[in-house]
Amino acid sequence: MYGGIYCFETNDEFDNPYYSIAKEKPSPLTEAFDETYFEQLLSPEAVQKLSLKAALATEQRIPGLGNGSLQDILWNANLHPKRKTNTLSDEEVQNLYNSLKQTLAEMTRMGGRSTEKDLFGQPGGYRVVMCVANNGKPCPKCGTTILKQAYMGGSIYTCSCCQALS
Ligand SMILES: [Zn+2]
Repeated sequence: MYGGIYCFETNDEFDNPYYSIAKEKPSPLTEAFDETYFEQLLSPEAVQKLSLKAALATEQRIPGLGNGSLQDILWNANLHPKRKTNTLSDEEVQNLYNSLKQTLAEMTRMGGRSTEKDLFGQPGGYRVVMCVANNGKPCPKCGTTILKQAYMGGSIYTCSCCQALS
């Protein structure tokens, strides 16, 4: 929702929870964020009870991963944002991990998402599929209409055919 550039001499001069967490945990773009780490992240019982959107894009569990990036990650993994984490098979967890790594790498490689602008007002080169511009349009994989819904203080975009709820 926001970003910032700050200048400060020492860490204790800058007391911001987002910054502290981002420094503590591995970025999903690094090798330290591997499949074992991802599985450990999802393993606590409190996290298992959550929907995938709540598990992956709240509480800064994964630094920098927000709702906007999550929509294509879940679509690429054929998983619904409301799907409960504890209903995922081992194969689905692996698909989710692969999609998370690959989708974020592609977004980075292309200079960010088309739905956001850089400091010079230029949109990113990664064409987002699951976003407001495609609400009501056909899913590129199967042709089913993409549906926008309000969920947990934000919008989710889903294909009812590709993204299983259970
Ligand atoms: Zn579809």
